[in-house]
Amino acid sequence: MVEQVQKRVADLCPAGVEDIFETYEAGSAGAKWQAQVLDMFENDIAKEIHRKWQEILLYREKFMCKGCATCCKLACSEFSPEQLKQKAAGGDRFATQFLSVFVPYATREEASEVYPEYLQLLDDTISDEVYFYHCPKLNDCNRCTDYENRPQICRDFPDNPLSILPESCGFYQWRQQVQPVALMLHATLEILNYYRDKIPQSTSS
Ligand code: SF4
Ligand code: SF4
Repeated sequence: MVEQVQKRVADLCPAGVEDIFETYEAGSAGAKWQAQVLDMFENDIAKEIHRKWQEILLYREKFMCKGCATCCKLACSEFSPEQLKQKAAGGDRFATQFLSVFVPYATREEASEVYPEYLQLLDDTISDEVYFYHCPKLNDCNRCTDYENRPQICRDFPDNPLSILPESCGFYQWRQQVQPVALMLHATLEILNYYRDKIPQSTSS
């Protein structure tokens, strides 16, 4: 994928110019090339990534929630409660909704008792620290007691094929099937962001 993006950048390169990350005078061939590349990212590659991502989400509709309630009993986040509060205070919609329903487990052991295999899977897959939460609105019969008012994040779950789902989840197979494509799209987006960050903007047109 890196090679494909590099090739497309090189294909647009005018004669006598070599480095896409160089600072060029406004209006020069180099600056026009940079503008062309950024335009190609925005109006071609990024749109294609978005289209494929939407296809992945559409394909999810072929799978169904099994009502295992793991996503309510054992939500995991890369963010601590304090970090989530800070994000929510800064206007982060996901953090605000997350904190409106989830509370942190007192200890990791407590979380582990809910679904030890899932925690093991997370441990095996993620090297960074993970924080565990649960929702007090879930009753003993694994039913949401505030279903009509549940936030959008509950209605949308799971909407990220890169997140790690427990095997009990009805969308586990969806995630397994689409993950290679999702990883490729994510990697491509990272490459685009790398180029966008490094291409000098002030003289790029
Ligand atoms: S609000 Fe309902 S659906 Fe959302 S996490 Fe809590 S119990 Fe689950
Ligand atoms: S983990 Fe998956 S199957 Fe279980 S309740 Fe959540 S969405 Fe449904």
